[in-house]
Amino acid sequence: MTPNVIDGKLVAEDVVAIVKDATAKLVAKTGVVPGIAVVIVGEDPASQVYVRSKGKKAHDCGFHSETYTMPADTAEADLLAKVADLNADPAIHGILVQLPLPKHIDEGKIIQAIDPGKDVDGFHFINVGMLGTGEIDKAFIPCTPAGSMVLIRRALGKSDLSGLTAVVVGRSNIVGKPMANLLLAANATVTIAHSRTPDLPALARTADILVAAVGRPEMIKGDWVKPGACVIDVGINRIDAPEKGEGKTRLVGDVAYDSAATNAGSITPVPGGVGPMTIAMLMANTLASACREAGVDAPSY
Ligand code: NDP
Repeated sequence: MTPNVIDGKLVAEDVVAIVKDATAKLVAKTGVVPGIAVVIVGEDPASQVYVRSKGKKAHDCGFHSETYTMPADTAEADLLAKVADLNADPAIHGILVQLPLPKHIDEGKIIQAIDPGKDVDGFHFINVGMLGTGEIDKAFIPCTPAGSMVLIRRALGKSDLSGLTAVVVGRSNIVGKPMANLLLAANATVTIAHSRTPDLPALARTADILVAAVGRPEMIKGDWVKPGACVIDVGINRIDAPEKGEGKTRLVGDVAYDSAATNAGSITPVPGGVGPMTIAMLMANTLASACREAGVDAPSY
């Protein structure tokens, strides 16, 4: 079987184009300019790269964007004060505190201090609770599962997944659990698997939609994939690549792509699948927040 390779970069570009267009219309109609604030504490180079690309994408979308870089020894109280300032700032519709935070700061406390109406990462208990109770249109959904859901809808050409079986491998709060809730809300029959799940290959083979969010390079093998399944690989793992030269590395997903692709009906590559969707959905969430304030409908993707 030759699978449909799901081009996340292309879909992410399309989402950003929709956001950009809707932003221009929102500004023209209401004067409300979506505003996003990204706060980063410390000098972690990978986080700095993410934050820069978020700022650039926000600018591309026509947003007002602010970045606050705070020193690694910032006191928890000072970060809480920054979050309180941003909560009160009418020009800001989305607040993102880049994780991980330095160890002396309680991440949970910071996340719960963000106004749930500006929590565009979707990690606040209010947003988690709304997603869990099916209030999807009111909640901010964490960006990676939200982006994975867009890919699934577009790959299958439908948003009602009635009659389909989904297996999500991984039960983290930022990917596995919200992913499972989204699939459930779309009427799929959902199982969440994790490190204590027995006979994972047999369970995976029951899935019409198989989502891997494990963090183990190429763990899911081709013969775990039901023929024709839609395979969404959230994993991003860096492994040694001696074939590219000494000390070189490459990125792989949680799915053994080449063998899985022989069985899958559609499949995301790594890189270029789920990865590009995350920032795109952050922009979509920020626009949705601004639309709520302005009382206009946000676009769908
Ligand atoms: P976590 O480490 O928080 O969760 C991993 C999950 O996988 C856990 O629930 C764990 O089970 C489960 N697991 C671990 N080993 C096995 C196993 N042998 N069999 C079955 N299940 C297992 O990871 P995240 O959810 O944060 O991330 C998952 C992957 O997605 C990572 O590769 C990460 O880099 C990537 N990621 C990609 C993003 C993107 O933008 N594309 C964004 C976020 C993450 P248990 O709970 O029992 O320990």
